[in-house]
Amino acid sequence: MESVLTLRDVNKTYHGAQPLHVLKGINLDICRGEFVSIMGSSGSGKSTLLNILGILDNYDSGEYRLGGQLIWNLSERRAAEYRNRMIGFIFQSFNLISFKTAVENVELPLFYQGVSRRKRHQMAMEYLDRLGLAQWAGHYPNELSGGQKQRVAIARALITQPQIILADEPTGALDSRTSVEVMQLLKQLNEEQGITIVVVTHESGVANETNKIVHIKDGLIGSIEENNDHHASPFGMGGVMK
Ligand code: ADP
Ligand code: MG
Repeated sequence: MESVLTLRDVNKTYHGAQPLHVLKGINLDICRGEFVSIMGSSGSGKSTLLNILGILDNYDSGEYRLGGQLIWNLSERRAAEYRNRMIGFIFQSFNLISFKTAVENVELPLFYQGVSRRKRHQMAMEYLDRLGLAQWAGHYPNELSGGQKQRVAIARALITQPQIILADEPTGALDSRTSVEVMQLLKQLNEEQGITIVVVTHESGVANETNKIVHIKDGLIGSIEENNDHHASPFGMGGVMK
C-alpha cells in the first residue's frame, strides 16, 4: 500500500522556560484509505504530531512527506496551499466561527479558494443536507448541540473534498452516545469515500472505533495494533449520510 503520510525520525522540541523534547524520533507510515487512531496520554505529543501532519507546525529534524512531497521549510503560503488541497481538519472545540451561521461556516474554505458566492452556498447546503443538517443551515453555533456543531465542522472539512482528514480529539467535548455517532460517521466517510482519516485521542473507546491503533509514549511510537474486530455501533447511523 502507498504511504500517504510518512514520518522518518521526526523530532520536535518546544523552547519554553525549559526545553521540552516532545517527539523523539517518530517513524510512521499511514497509507491511503486507512482509518487510524493515534492514542496516548495527555501531554504525550499527540496534538504536536497531528499539527506537523497538517502542516500547522514545523518539526526540527527528520523527514515528513505528504503524498510523497517533502514538507520542510514551506512558506506559509505554500503550506496553506497544501492544506487547502489535501487536508480537512476537525478539532475538539469545533473551531466554528461564532458570528457566522452553520452554512456560512461550511462555505468558508471555498471562500479561500475563490469559489463564487452562489456556488459555495449551493455546495455548503449540499454538504449540510448530507449530514442531516439542512434545517440548521441558518442557525449560529450557539444554537446547535455539540454533536450538531461537530457535524457542521465535518461538513466544513469535507467541502474541499480532501484526501485526508486529521481529527484532534474530535469527540472530546461530546457525550458518549454522540461520540459514537461521530466516530461512526468518520468510519462511513472512510469506507464509502476512501478518505484517509487520522484521529488523535486519549480514549481507548474512541481508538477502538478505528482500524489501526498507534500508541505514542515518551515521544516515540510504541505498539501498533490492527483492530479489525471493532464493535458495531449500537446506534443506527443510516440517517446521517443521506
Ligand atoms: P497531547 O495532545 O498529547 O496532550 P501536546 O502535543 O499538546 O500533547 O503537548 C505535548 C507537550 O508539549 C505538553 O507537555 C505540552 O504542555 C507541551 N507543549 C505543547 N505545545 C507547546 C508550545 N507551543 N510551547 C511549549 N510547550 C508546548
Ligand atoms: Mg492534544
